[in-house]
Amino acid sequence: MEQCDCLIVGSGPAGLGAAFHLTEHDPGINIIILDKEKVTSGGLRNDCKMNFTFPTGFPLEYWDRAGAEELFPEMFNHLHPEIMTTKNLSIYQRRAERLGVRLMEIRQAHYGTDGGIILIRELVEKLKSRGVNFSLQEEMVDIKKGSPVVITDTREITFRKLIIALGRRGFAFLQEIMDKLEIHYIDNIVDIGLRIETREENYPIVRDYYDPKFHFPDKVRTFCTNSRAAYVVKEKYSGRHGRDYFSVNGHAFSEKRKRSGLVNFAMLKTVGFTRPLASGQEFAEMLGQQAMLMGGGKPLMQRVGDFRLGKRSNGESFTGDLYNFEPSLKSCTPGDISLAVPGKIMRAIWKAMKMLDTITPGLLHPATIMYYPEIKLYANKPQFKDEYFQVRDNIYLIGDGAGTSRGITGAWASGIRAASGILKSL
Ligand SMILES: Cc1cc2nc3c(=O)[nH]c(=O)nc-3n(C[C@H](O)[C@H](O)[C@H](O)COP(=O)(O)OP(=O)(O)OC[C@H]3O[C@@H](n4cnc5c(N)ncnc54)[C@H](O)[C@@H]3O)c2cc1C
Repeated sequence: MEQCDCLIVGSGPAGLGAAFHLTEHDPGINIIILDKEKVTSGGLRNDCKMNFTFPTGFPLEYWDRAGAEELFPEMFNHLHPEIMTTKNLSIYQRRAERLGVRLMEIRQAHYGTDGGIILIRELVEKLKSRGVNFSLQEEMVDIKKGSPVVITDTREITFRKLIIALGRRGFAFLQEIMDKLEIHYIDNIVDIGLRIETREENYPIVRDYYDPKFHFPDKVRTFCTNSRAAYVVKEKYSGRHGRDYFSVNGHAFSEKRKRSGLVNFAMLKTVGFTRPLASGQEFAEMLGQQAMLMGGGKPLMQRVGDFRLGKRSNGESFTGDLYNFEPSLKSCTPGDISLAVPGKIMRAIWKAMKMLDTITPGLLHPATIMYYPEIKLYANKPQFKDEYFQVRDNIYLIGDGAGTSRGITGAWASGIRAASGILKSL
């Protein structure tokens, strides 16, 4: 049986943040990092925009401004972000305020999907040179209750400290682990919405501000804007009982790549449930599965022009001079998203889109595409024993999967925090 001081499951930013902090302060520590994928670093591969303004990416239940900001210098040391400039913000902010909308000013850096891969290589090499042992394509499948042993698909590993940082795709598995270890958690909040894609000239604010974050009434917000070499993707999520579904998402390459002329971003509504609904995640999964059913196993897409007229999109909606760009995600089914999105969510998002079109005119061009569903699961809220995200003696749950972050920087910071707890107790 393999043994280590600290086993980190998941090589996303949360796992890496922990590994860097541990090796910096305890050079002799013996760390194994597992990842079920054959490449490392989870979500750092996704567009890699980094937000350095509190509270973006830092859930307020676990972070305050001082606690987050004191970790930024350490992150700058490893991630070397080049903060992008913004222009004309006050003009957009004034227009937004008149409608009761807030435009957040965020310090942001953007590596792009290709730049992120280069960064990951550097980070992994550094950790290897500090003696960290990476084991890729190895999946944690279980944990022994009552003894410090993780079971993977190939072996058993004994740990002194265990950090589990599985990200959003590990959400369902993390719940199984929490059930097994009898860790109490709630899971009642989800973000559900659309991904919007349009030509850059219909959303020109991105030339002034790479990822403008608007907060609308009814808990609707823009999220993860991509432009320049941008495209929409679909990601498969495994739900309970083997019921898989797709969620759409967005990426962009760095400045070096050819521009697509398109912009994409999410319009998300946060939905919080109270008793008797037991699981927000299960609710979101069911919406994802319903969209799969309607789309014949694919996400749905609809042109704004069709949506406004109350008719479904079809093959013809994706040709012709008015509908003047092709969807970057072709493997979607043209249809009627208003049949699939719950009414209250659709009304709030459509209202927000109209407000956005007033702030940055052009968004509601008939050609604009709405993809559905985009689902964000980061609402697992385990009951932590301490501020270091410890749930049971020597077991720490961090990152997006455990609800301690909502983005790369928050995830990295969660890793630092868990690592400092571990260093104290070691
Ligand atoms: C398409 C897309 C674009 C995004 N763009 C941005 C962005 O621009 N800026 C931003 O701040 N955030 C962005 N995000 C969110 C960001 O990726 C996450 O907030 C961040 O990666 C969370 O870090 P994490 O370490 O918690 O989890 P992850 O980065 O998801 O890492 C978790 C890792 O755990 C591994 N894993 C899961 N289960 C197991 C298991 N059982 N055994 C072993 N390994 C396992 C996974 O393979 C994965 O590598 C984006 C997300 C997506 C999907």
